[in-house]
This record gives sequence, structure tokens and C-alpha cells, in this order.
Amino acid sequence: GLTLVWFREDLRVHDHAALTAARADGHVIAVWVRESRDDDGLGPRPLGGACRWWVHESLSVLEEELSHLGIPLLFAAGESATIIPELAGRLDVDAVRWSRRYAPASRSLDGRIKTELRNRGLTVHSHPGALLVEPWTAAPQGGDHYKVFTPFWKAVSGGDVGDVLPVPVEQPRLSTGLIDSAQACAAVTDLDGLGLLDGTGTGSGVFAAADGPRWWQDTISRHWTPGLRGAAAALEDLHAGIDGYSTAHDIPADGASTSRLSPRLRHGELSPRQLLRAAQTAEGITVDDRTSWIRQLYWREFSWHLAYHHPDIDAWPIRPEFNDFPYDDDEGALRSWQSGQTGYPLVDAGMTQLWETGWMHNRVRMVTASFLTKNLLHHWRHGEQWFWDTLVDADEANNPVSWQWVAGSGADAAPFFRVFNPERQRKRFDPDDAYIDEWLSETTDAETSPIVDLADSRHAALDAYDQMKSTEAST
Ligand code: FAD
Repeated sequence: GLTLVWFREDLRVHDHAALTAARADGHVIAVWVRESRDDDGLGPRPLGGACRWWVHESLSVLEEELSHLGIPLLFAAGESATIIPELAGRLDVDAVRWSRRYAPASRSLDGRIKTELRNRGLTVHSHPGALLVEPWTAAPQGGDHYKVFTPFWKAVSGGDVGDVLPVPVEQPRLSTGLIDSAQACAAVTDLDGLGLLDGTGTGSGVFAAADGPRWWQDTISRHWTPGLRGAAAALEDLHAGIDGYSTAHDIPADGASTSRLSPRLRHGELSPRQLLRAAQTAEGITVDDRTSWIRQLYWREFSWHLAYHHPDIDAWPIRPEFNDFPYDDDEGALRSWQSGQTGYPLVDAGMTQLWETGWMHNRVRMVTASFLTKNLLHHWRHGEQWFWDTLVDADEANNPVSWQWVAGSGADAAPFFRVFNPERQRKRFDPDDAYIDEWLSETTDAETSPIVDLADSRHAALDAYDQMKSTEAST
């Protein structure tokens, strides 16, 4: 039989259950669709600028890897609810398979497509692979889902995640007539035709005036090698990322204090199961380092657990009282934050690292997010949107969930009154200014005077919080 494998956020050929099952059934043809949301708003959130660059690069490597296996990879742009059934029809496939995705708007779309394909008499299967724990399989007694990390982690870690699947064996070349009939589908194009690299990269165009249009491929490409070969090299370095993790993971300057595997997980170049197995079996690692790193993998699971259970998590606070929070939303303050000109070196260094590399260390993500939402009293959605556009690892769960966590509106959030002091954080985690020196030149550092006073703005944030609580009490 012939199977269409629809690749989405799983840009790999190993540990890929859909691909493995499809090869077991016979021959495979693959497709990746640059999806637009349909009129009902179903489908994935449109990729931000940095992720568009990453996906473009990663797809070009995937195309090559699949071609080594004799599998053609087609590209198409538009609404997948139209494209996938049409392609399946033109190719006359027997089955369609894909890896599951978990954001509610994508799941609803996939459900519709599944029904449509089945109505046409095709076999359809969705496979796990992006997560270690299917979000609907974990629930506390008497509740529908976990709202606090530790009980979630205790309940789900330690389960059997199964074995990592090998790369399937090569198949004989498919007839060119088959590819021709796929290309008759109007939505089918080549990789460049997807237009992933078109545009300036940033939706908001904040820097357009000063810098001219921004082309991601000129900057973040110096820091990353997307695709399976880059991913394999990153996996080789996993040992360095885990070794010392329990004590060093909060130090932003040390290049190896964390693994930097987040974009690999985001785009599915590496599977969480493969990383869990690698961490469990890495030699010469202390129990503390191993456990604390694996625990972070489960934070990712927890974010997806929450996103699965909270549609529109990027728009609405999990704790609804935060709908009444009196945000200030000063446009100039947002721009200073985005461009790393707040006058607080740790914040500015973090925002510069993000802009230059598409990635920021977790400790600094927390400090910059706290600064925006508390000292500048900006809505967390504005920061979330900026990160969405600039992070190579931006995903539909971790980004909004982490923002809500910092802003105090999340399920298991940091208490609102915990306002990070960027100067104290700097002394504690970057005592020798190593991180700051890496990202800020001495002149920028000295010339930018602070845009807010830390003590005054902290008080204003606590007052705003009290105001929200009194609104809540009076309604
Ligand atoms: P390591 O420390 O080596 O951890 C290994 C893996 O565990 C990571 O690759 C990641 O998949 C997962 N992980 C680690 N920390 C967290 C965490 N706090 N929450 C969830 N998963 C975690 N992470 C994203 O993957 N995408 C995002 O869009 C994202 N946005 C964030 C926004 C804010 C405001 C904050 C505070 C955090 C955000 N994070 C996000 C979480 C975290 O900062 C990154 O996952 C981490 O910095 C990635 O670096 P690493 O791969 O070196 O992580």
C-alpha cells in the first residue's frame, strides 16, 4: 500500500512512529504544509519570524534525509483541511498518518480532517511522539487535569515510554508520474515557494525605522544549524548540558550550563523520548544533575498538559481575576524593553541575546518577563508575542504558560508579589558581568539610564495587584 505521511512539528526520520508504521505497510510519500488558519480559527498559530527561518532550514535538511530513504517530500501552502484530502485523492493513497499535536485549535482541525479522510474510505492514524505523556491520560483524583507541577511530575514520571524507533529502511524510488499528479494540486510548491523567509521577520516592525528590514538568516544563522545533522551534533553535546546542571543551570554566561536543545524539541528534530533515554543512560553524571535535568523535560510536558486543557492560553489568563488587572501598556516602554534599552544591564543583555540569537537563557527569560509585566506594568501578552516572533523555540504551550507563570496569572504561578529585582539577580547569577559583557558593549551599558526606578515601579505593581483584588472582591 501507499501511505501519505503528513509531517508537522516532527522534522525527523528516527523515532517517528507514523513513518515507521507507514513503511511497515509499504511505500511512503511525505508532505509538509505551511498552514493558514481556517475561518473558524482552527489550525496552528502562525509561525513567528525566528521559527519561520528555523523551519525553512530544517525542512531543507529533512527533504534530503527523506530522499536518502527514497521518500519524496512535497511542500504545500494553504488550508490543510483542503490540501490533505485533495493530495490523498490525487496520489490515490490507502492511508494517511501523522504525529499528534496537542494545541486545542490544531487538534480540532486534525479531528475534522480525520473524519473527512475516513468518509472517503481511507485509513487514518495519528501517532504519539511529541510528548512523553498524552495529556488526557494524567488526571488527579477528583479533577480533570493537574494544575500544579509537583503532583503532575510525581504521577507521570517513571512510566514506561517505550523504545526509541530506528530510521526506517530505504524504499524503492516511486514513479515520477505519482509526483506529477501531486504537483497538479494548486497548493503544491517547492520549499522556497512556501515563502517562509519572506518579510522582515518581525511582525511588529519595531526596528524597521532604525535598522531597516530585519532578515533573520543574517544573524541567528550564525548561532544554529537547524536540521537533523545539527540535532545529532547537539545530542552528542548532551553530556556537557547535563553535567553540573543542578548547580550551574541558573548561570546565563556559561555556554554549557543548559543543553540548548529547546529548538530541537520544538521542531521535533529530536524526540523527548530519545532525550529522556539519553539522559537516563549518560555516563559519569551525578544523580542530582540527571534528575534535575529530566525534571525540566517534564516542565515541558506540564506546559503542554495545561495548554491542552486551556484553549486560547495565549490570549486568556488561566486565573480569570487577571482579566481585571490594570495594566499600563505604555508603547515607549515596550519598545525600550524589546530593543534592550531599559538601562538595567541584565534585562538589556537578555533582550540582546534574544534578538541576536533567537534564544535566551531561562533565568534571564524570567527576569526580562518579570520586568515587563511588573516594573513596566505591561500585559504579558505583549511580551509573549515578542518572544513568539523572536525565539527559535517559541511554542504554543511553553511560551504562554511561562509568561503566565511569571505574570502571576498562571495555574501554578509565582506569587504576584515576587518581583524579580534585575540588579540583585545580576549580582547573584552574573557576579563577574560575564554574561553582560558578552551581550552589551560598554558604551550602551553606560549610556542608557534606567527607564524606571525599581522601588517605585515595584510599589506601583503591588498597588495594581491590590486594585485587581478589590475589583474581584466587589464583583
Ligand atoms: P535545559 O535547561 O537544558 O532543559 C531541557 C529541556 O527542558 C528544554 O529544552 C525544554 O524543552 C525543557 N524546559 C527547560 N526549562 C523549562 C521550563 N521552565 N518550562 C518548560 N520547559 C522547560 N521554552 C520553550 O521551549 N519554548 C518557549 O517558547 C519558551 N518560552 C518561555 C518564556 C518565558 C517567559 C520563560 C520564563 C520561559 C520560557 N521557556 C520556553 C522555558 C525555558 O526558558 C526554555 O525551555 C529553556 O531556556 C530552553 O533552554 P535549554 O534547551 O538549554 O533548556
